[in-house]
Amino acid sequence: MRSAWLIGWSLTAVLGACSMDPAEDPIDDPTWGDGKEDGASGVNIAATALDVDLATMTATATIELERYGHVKLEVGGLTITAVRDERGNRQHRITNGTLYVSNVRSPLVVEYAFEEKDMANGLLPGGSTVIWPYFCGNVFPCHSQPADGTTFALAIDGVPDGKTAIYPETIDAESPPYMLAWAVGKYTHAELGTTPAGTTISVDWLPGGETAARAGTKRLVDVFDWYERVLGPYAFGDRAGSVSVIWGEGLYGGMEHHPYWHVAKDAMNDEVTHAHEAAHGWFGDGVRIKCWEDFVLSEGTTSYLAARALSVVGGPSTEAKVWRDYQDELDAAIEEGGAPAWPQGCNRIDIIRDNLFTNLPYMQGAFFYKDVATAVGAEVLDGVIGRFYQAHKTQPATMQDMVDFIEAETGFDPSELVESRLRKQF
Ligand SMILES: [Zn+2]
Repeated sequence: MRSAWLIGWSLTAVLGACSMDPAEDPIDDPTWGDGKEDGASGVNIAATALDVDLATMTATATIELERYGHVKLEVGGLTITAVRDERGNRQHRITNGTLYVSNVRSPLVVEYAFEEKDMANGLLPGGSTVIWPYFCGNVFPCHSQPADGTTFALAIDGVPDGKTAIYPETIDAESPPYMLAWAVGKYTHAELGTTPAGTTISVDWLPGGETAARAGTKRLVDVFDWYERVLGPYAFGDRAGSVSVIWGEGLYGGMEHHPYWHVAKDAMNDEVTHAHEAAHGWFGDGVRIKCWEDFVLSEGTTSYLAARALSVVGGPSTEAKVWRDYQDELDAAIEEGGAPAWPQGCNRIDIIRDNLFTNLPYMQGAFFYKDVATAVGAEVLDGVIGRFYQAHKTQPATMQDMVDFIEAETGFDPSELVESRLRKQF
């Protein structure tokens, strides 16, 4: 995500709509999860298959778990109509937006209705979905913790005449729950090219959007190729690309819904936004964050990689402009303040309530890597980031893992930069 789009976002409304209350567990049963799982449930999710009917606003979710037993799923925005497994209909309880089913022994099938949401927390009036950071329970039964990766299958029926639905039919690599999305609109599709590694890159724009879409994606194939060559193979299939979406007044930027990431209509001409969202295929989505405190591992790394890729494919003038703009964004973020770019702890914070969703993790993170590159060489750091990706691909990791890896691989101790860039409170 590019965070400049927070402008105009109604935080109060977003928080008011938050249905998750992880502190509450009304089941007084010591076998109900051992508290050590990455996710919010006693068992982690392995696969999520959704059959969605937009005409009736209903869906069927088939959830496979890593092991079977007592299951908790976030369903805060859903109206559940049936819960069953291979033994038939199952008794269940819904408390505080959580669905409880005990002794599940096969994939759990949940039939439900969902609603349109207007605060960037589900299916939006513009026809696309956004469930970051923890609003997946407004679209499908889920665990919102990004560490609990899931594969996806998605089928969408009931698309209005004259519109198309853009979504991945399958995502075969484990991904964070907030990665899944669809977009419905009057789209025009264009293929931009295929990378040497074989990934076909596309862009989809809305009526009147071609000029901006072409401008913003003019180097996207080269940028994507740079990621594939320097970081490693893309994890989410052989097709990927940018999709223009209508988020609403004041929202700006993009969201890492790989393989068809979303870019707000007003940002479609911005190359940095396309490059940033594409980079999430490697960090944030490809390597998931283990804790919300590790947000900088997603956003700082992708902000740096977008600048680096555009610098390589665009040359010195592009490089100078991107970093000048980043410096302006950093100055504004410091002025505004917020949580440190990398807070201490693991899942002790609420990313929105505790003000970690500012531009500080993005820009302090980008400049952290830039400072490391100054010390060790940009191409050396490229190699380090690539080997980190390959070591942690489709798994959760922490920013501490990255800091330790940089030191182990280069001999450069980044702890002073960690303090001045990432741990510092503004
Ligand atoms: Zn991002």
